Amino acid sequence: MTDLVPDIAAEIAERRTAILQRIAAAAQTARRSASDIALVAVSKVQPDDRVDAMLAAGQRIFGENRVQEAQARWSGRRANYPDLELRLVGPLQSNKAGDAVALFDVIETLDRDSLARALRKEIGKQGRTPRLFIQVNTGEEDQKSGIPPQETAGFIARMRREYGFAIDGLMCIPPVGEPAGPHFALLADLARACGVEKLSMGMSGDFETAIRFGATSVRVGTALFGERG
Ligand SMILES: *Cc1c(COP(=O)(O)O)cnc(C)c1O
Repeated sequence: MTDLVPDIAAEIAERRTAILQRIAAAAQTARRSASDIALVAVSKVQPDDRVDAMLAAGQRIFGENRVQEAQARWSGRRANYPDLELRLVGPLQSNKAGDAVALFDVIETLDRDSLARALRKEIGKQGRTPRLFIQVNTGEEDQKSGIPPQETAGFIARMRREYGFAIDGLMCIPPVGEPAGPHFALLADLARACGVEKLSMGMSGDFETAIRFGATSVRVGTALFGERG
């Protein structure tokens, strides 16, 4: 642990309180319970003092988008926070599946059979079962990971039938520069049609919209921590 600089600690605690208040307000507007919406603090690229201040403020669910960076940041801190929950929200290469299964409580970016095979093998070997979300490429962007919307139902059925995976949720990252609402609505429709319960959607700029469309977790980075250095 780095020593906490008092003003950083206060700033981070205030930022977190403000985001939690905005989540509560958005939940109320949507006639939902704020306790049904988890705040995932996306700590990628943030300096140690800000991460430690976020822990000191009481935050326990963190999102990372790279396996190695997450290992460096969390393998030491993990022991001090038994109630910590780590989520992988970035793309996962099959050759990192072992490290991901060992470190993460939730993997939100399952999107292909080769990765499912690698995860299945590691889950069997390690006796550790992270909760799995399917990433859906709602905007059908060539450069973006995720299953195309029209293939999602078949993919989920296969994950359940052939791999024995309980699929906990769906996740999406809407295209930059488009209104996010239709993408969140599509993800919610797919989840309903496939009997999937959780929805990971919404980031700093659009988490209130995501809550309106049924997000059960929002992934917030810069609005919580400040700009990534
Ligand atoms: C970085 C990142 C976030 C957080 O983005 P902000 O705009 O900083 O809130 C959320 N989800 C994913 C997948 C990310 O990579």
